Amino acid sequence: MAGVTALDLVWPLFVLAGIEHVRIVPGATAFTPLAFDSYPWSHSLVMAFVWGLVLVGLARSFGVPGSASLLLVGLVVSHWVLDFISHAPDMPLWPGPSPRLGLGLWNSIPMTFVVEGSLWVAGILAYLLGHRFGGRGSRTAFWSLVAVTTVMWASGPWSPPPPSVRALAWFALIGWIIVPWAVAADRGGRIDGSRPD
Ligand SMILES: [Zn+2]
Repeated sequence: MAGVTALDLVWPLFVLAGIEHVRIVPGATAFTPLAFDSYPWSHSLVMAFVWGLVLVGLARSFGVPGSASLLLVGLVVSHWVLDFISHAPDMPLWPGPSPRLGLGLWNSIPMTFVVEGSLWVAGILAYLLGHRFGGRGSRTAFWSLVAVTTVMWASGPWSPPPPSVRALAWFALIGWIIVPWAVAADRGGRIDGSRPD
């Protein structure tokens, strides 16, 4: 979870620090009122690889085997790929003068629900197929995480725009809660019987 959300974990910090810039423009795309003017340090493709390597370093210090490194980098970079599909053409390749890319899925609310929604459901099913919950606590943590993130995502187009960029950035820090929440949800064993914790 830290891997796939890494770029969105650091983004609000850079916005609050005034290093990256976003504007609230209702209608910027149909799905979100956010115009991402500049976010090369959190959201460029090159920096996605860098954040992936940072995560590998962190994971290694927590005892995650080196064989997982490639997977961790892939998870972090996958965020760039999916944002590239959803965002307006605002995704930089590297910090500095860079082309800005994006396929603009968010210009269509129905297509966003179909594409992002089916990826979300497929991800949940894939997880459930390979997982056995450790108990009622982890089951509750998992389904509450799914419910809250689903409501936050699906209600987006009908929610009032954030009152200010600062309020938006503070609210976006909620992403940091998702990591320990996911840890709580993941307590348990894989179906092959190994126990990760
Ligand atoms: Zn992002």
